[in-house]
Parts: sequence; C-alpha cells; structure tokens
Amino acid sequence: MGDFVIRGVHKAFTTGAGEVVALQEINLRVEDQEFVAIVGASGSGKSTLLNLVAGFDTPSRGDVLMNGAPVTGPGPDRGVVFQQSALYPWLTVRGNVAFGLGLARNRHRFGGTAERDAIVDGLIRRVGLEAFKHSLPAELSGGMRQRAAIASVLAINPEVLLMDEPFGALDSLTRSLMQDFLLEIWESERKTVLLVTHDITEAIYLADRVIVMAGHPGRIREVINVDLQRPRMLATQGQQRFVDLREHVTAVVRDEVSKAEALFHA
Ligand code: ADP
Ligand code: MG
Repeated sequence: MGDFVIRGVHKAFTTGAGEVVALQEINLRVEDQEFVAIVGASGSGKSTLLNLVAGFDTPSRGDVLMNGAPVTGPGPDRGVVFQQSALYPWLTVRGNVAFGLGLARNRHRFGGTAERDAIVDGLIRRVGLEAFKHSLPAELSGGMRQRAAIASVLAINPEVLLMDEPFGALDSLTRSLMQDFLLEIWESERKTVLLVTHDITEAIYLADRVIVMAGHPGRIREVINVDLQRPRMLATQGQQRFVDLREHVTAVVRDEVSKAEALFHA
C-alpha cells in the first residue's frame, strides 16, 4: 500500500528577507498506485511539498499521512530521486544497488547471498546497465548515473517513488527513454509515483493527474485529470486530446509565471 494524504499543510521559511510562505493550505490525496505529476513555475513550492512527503522537513501546520500514519521522517516506504541523485562514488553500480538492498533486507525477505545477488542483478538489468555494473559512477554518463540511482532506490522496494525533476539534466533522447522506463516500472511494480517536472509534455505523457502549483504563496492552482488511455501517444503523433491538455496546462502555468513576474517587477 502506498497512499498518502496532505491535509491543511502550511509551510513557511524565515529568511533574511522575512517570512516566505512556501506552501499555503495544501490539501491533496494520492491513491495507492496512482501516478501524479506536479508542474508550476520555479519557486511555487513543488520541492517543498515533495520534501514534506519524503519526511526531510516538517509542515508548519497541518499533516502528512502515509498509509494513514503521520510522516515523522524519511522511511524505506518512500524512495526519493533527485535531478542529480547521489551515488556512493567509491562503489560500483553493483555496489551502490547492493547497498540499497542491504539497507532493506527485511523488505525483500531474501535468504542467502545468491538470492540477494539475483535481486541486484535483476535490477541492474531492468535499468539497462548490465554492461556497466562494475563501473564507478564517474565512468558513467548522466543518464546512466540516473538509472543507477533509480535502481538503488528500487532496491529498497519502496511503495512510493518521489521524484524531483529526475530527468531534468538529461538530453531529450535519454529523457524519453527514461520516461518509458519509469512507466514500465510503475506498471509492473504497481508503485505510487509523485513526479515534479518542468516538462508539461512529460507530465501529460506519464501521469493520471497533473497538479499545477502557483507561487507566492505556494498553493495548488488546478488539478487536471489526464483522461488518456495508455499507451499514450505524444502530441507530436497528432493525438488531439493530448494537444488540448498540453495547451490548457501550458496556459495555466504561463498565467502563473506572468503573475509572479509582475509581482517581482512591482
Ligand atoms: P520549486 O521547487 O517549485 O521551485 P521550492 O519548493 O524550492 O519551489 O521553493 C518554494 C519557496 O520557498 C521559494 O520562494 C523558496 O525560495 C522558498 N524556500 C524553499 N526552501 C527554503 C529554505 N530551506 N529556506 C528558505 N526558503 C526556502
Ligand atoms: Mg524545485
């Protein structure tokens, strides 16, 4: 099970320039096995929201509940992937994935070393890094490092994947391969996914629902149900509903960006 609820959440930061309201009155329920994308101008509170669900930070008011229980810190039920995910630079790809698995021994119920090795090798194969399993992170491309990071998060076998612009630093070809890989994982492992992205096409291609955030103070501006069957075709393949949804989300995000700019120049 991997549902979570964000209830009446408010988050303020005190900075040199005064108080910043990063999130105001956020209410959101994400169902088990749902795929939700969050888009919005930079500074609209997307990362703050993801960090609260991850348990890296606590709300100023309100609660975050994971499977009905309050989130009090990070946990193996939630795996987090960032734009530049951390790998242990002194460990090979295999070592990094095995490390995650070691931390999550009781989540896999494996018996001996052979079984553990089979899980590690299976994950490495799933992310297409079989030929690089003995390589160090420094020897990999950005896309490969990100795949290795995802494999080491999957090794923990979390119910929820929290991803903050995970493909943001990748070239467009690698990015589209990674999007399909993420869909495949989501479909086969039935995880719940919360994905923060700048890329509106990516959000509509992947998610069941797209949340558009507005900034200053950070809040949910609109929730859009993506009523497209899977496998989806990208807008470039001429699916009209895809094009309409993308135009709608783009218009809402643009409207928020221009409001934020007006505020900034006032
Ligand atoms: P996004 O991910 O949508 O770009 P963030 O969640 O990073 O937005 O930030 C939302 C707002 O909160 C911004 O105004 C940002 O400057 C502020 N903020 C985020 N984290 C901190 C922090 N640790 N200290 C002070 N201000 C912060
Ligand atoms: Mg962010």
